[in-house]
Amino acid sequence: MSNSALVNYTRISPNKNSPRNHAIDTISIHCVVGQLSVETIGNVFAPSSAGCSANYGIGADGRIGMYVEEKDRSWCTSSGANDNRAITIECASDTTSPYAVNDKVYKALINLLVDICQRNGIKSLKWQANKALIGQVDKQNMTVHRWFANKACPGDYLYNLHGQIAAEVNKRLGVSSGAAAPAAKPQQTSKTTAEKTIWNFLSGKGLNDFAVAGIMGNLFAESALNPRNLQNSYEKKLNMTDDKYTAAVDNGTYNNFVRDSAGYGLAQWTYWSRKQGLLDHARKQGASIGDLNMQLSFLWKELSGYTAVMNTLKTAASVLAASNAILTGFEKPADQSAAVQKKRAEYGQKYYDKYVKKAAAAPAAFTPYLVKVTATDLRIRKGPGTNTSIVRYCPPGAYTIIAESDGPGASKWGQLKSKEGWIALDYAKKI
Ligand SMILES: [Zn+2]
Repeated sequence: MSNSALVNYTRISPNKNSPRNHAIDTISIHCVVGQLSVETIGNVFAPSSAGCSANYGIGADGRIGMYVEEKDRSWCTSSGANDNRAITIECASDTTSPYAVNDKVYKALINLLVDICQRNGIKSLKWQANKALIGQVDKQNMTVHRWFANKACPGDYLYNLHGQIAAEVNKRLGVSSGAAAPAAKPQQTSKTTAEKTIWNFLSGKGLNDFAVAGIMGNLFAESALNPRNLQNSYEKKLNMTDDKYTAAVDNGTYNNFVRDSAGYGLAQWTYWSRKQGLLDHARKQGASIGDLNMQLSFLWKELSGYTAVMNTLKTAASVLAASNAILTGFEKPADQSAAVQKKRAEYGQKYYDKYVKKAAAAPAAFTPYLVKVTATDLRIRKGPGTNTSIVRYCPPGAYTIIAESDGPGASKWGQLKSKEGWIALDYAKKI
């Protein structure tokens, strides 16, 4: 087991178990609550009295520190089971919610994650914002501290970026991200962050693309129509109570309010459909109504109870059909003015065009990579599969792979740059 060559500073903490008792198959990203340097993070983990550590830390200047070698288990996530299988990474962050990290930290985090995945045979990062999937690494191999302890960590900023982080890392790993959102520079109050979070959440639920777009159209039409402030407390600034806000949504003046709008859309949605809705639930849980993923999970639970709506969503033949199923079967008494109905269809179509059509029209460019073949009996085949003819034996050596494909006989096939044929990538190691 190796450590990252990207490390700029090493100070090994005594707070660890050596060696870890499980193979590395999980990533846990944390916020360190302070714009700290790698040296300061090292100071924090140095005394055994601290009782905590992390495999890596990223300082505010983007340098990377190592505090527990990858072969060892860090004390980071309040869960021995998690820390034994996870690489834990602390990121320099703001000291207050949403514990934002700067661009340098974000970039270093992506680089470090790509390196960790490549060295440890993690083929892609998977994120579904679903605590119930802890340990099911084939479905989700990223975990967060807040699932194991009563903590905000990694903070809403990084939490909401997990889908995007996975997409960016996977793109660098050469994994096609399908209908996943295109990578973009993270912005704390970005409209697209909210959209992507919702899109990624819904895409993992077994709905077809029309249904996902239809739901998104409903959410955004029903919310402030200006979904760009996921974190800002506009409500407070405007001296609005939840009830006043709800009334404003109902009487059509809600365009004025832009706070936390994607989440608020969900709140309105369930509030009006069930009378006792998401806001009340959030209050009872003591949870921040800004926590979009919590709201999404709750919404999903609600929506899943409407069998007829769900059946329609699973087979929806158009954005409009999905949108109408929600409108008539689930949302019922919500704002159904002509203006909102029009917006709903427009927004749904917009998301469909943006995330589905665009993704289908322009598949992510494949980045060629080098592999090393050590096996002496590997065959080059005419196509990606053992059902195609053998071209010749592939002598040990280094080869450039210019395309990947699924096919019988191997978990993945790679096309050789010589265009001579394809080899089973299970017998080639990325170098
Ligand atoms: Zn943490």
